[in-house]
Amino acid sequence: MDQIHIKNLEVYAHHGVFPEENALGQRFVISASLFTDTWAAGQTDELSHSIHYGEVSQRMKRYMETHTHKLLERVAQGLAEDLLETYPLLQKVRLELKKPWAPVGLPLETVSVEIERGWHTAYIALGSNLGDKEGYLNLAVQELRETRGCQVEAVSSYLRTEPYGYVEQDEFLNGCLRLRTWLPPLQLLSRLHEIEQKANRVREIHWGPRTLDLDIIFYDKEIIDLPELTVPHRDMQRRDFVLFPLEEIAPWARHPVFGKTVSELAGELREAKKMERVESE
Ligand code: ADP
Ligand code: MG
Repeated sequence: MDQIHIKNLEVYAHHGVFPEENALGQRFVISASLFTDTWAAGQTDELSHSIHYGEVSQRMKRYMETHTHKLLERVAQGLAEDLLETYPLLQKVRLELKKPWAPVGLPLETVSVEIERGWHTAYIALGSNLGDKEGYLNLAVQELRETRGCQVEAVSSYLRTEPYGYVEQDEFLNGCLRLRTWLPPLQLLSRLHEIEQKANRVREIHWGPRTLDLDIIFYDKEIIDLPELTVPHRDMQRRDFVLFPLEEIAPWARHPVFGKTVSELAGELREAKKMERVESE
């Protein structure tokens, strides 16, 4: 992707672990690579089609001067989030924050922290089979809309599915949504857990069938195998209540392991179900 560079912007600010640093301040030097598609600006010669590097520089300077953090990591993260939230055309930002006067007591040129943060696309499956199901799904959409670092871009219709297996269970209501987010996968997962908790608390219902289940189906094209997080969601290819709503909003999305699109997987599942019905007749 195209990049706009700001190199070695000098700012005087008060970040640091030591009280003297917070009181006296010191020199910080920022370099930023702004990842953005410059095609439109390249065609039209219009500044409004690109990211104004003068404005970005001013904004970073102001952020540095109006906050006081202990760690460079925190400053860099704060700057990155601020830029991603402010400039819709910014896809990704790489920031290097140097502190040439860091109080190390040894002759060094500079210390620095470099980070990269950007927007990602995630698909989230929503499910509920207890209480005000539609209300819970709507609550999840609303909570995600209000989450910093999350933009809900599309929501499928809600699909009713009969429970199979446990007949005692009420039928499910399922949906799917597309999220643009700068939260990394595990941070997104813990935000989803918070929202699930909130739904459970709303009516103080004891554990049992789920008031709200939120699962990460895809996160870009990433394959994640961790004890607490598997992406793409395991067994999604066998679950009509995931695939059918997902097909509505992202038929072209490709499963990074199977190499098949959602619409192909949904088609295969429909076929398999048809065969099952024929065999049971
Ligand atoms: P399920 O969604 O399978 O019905 P839970 O919602 O109770 O069950 O989730 C159990 C655990 O599954 C979660 O605490 C989470 O750590 C883990 N998990 C693994 N992969 C995912 C994923 N892709 N999305 C959401 N949770 C996941
Ligand atoms: Mg879950």
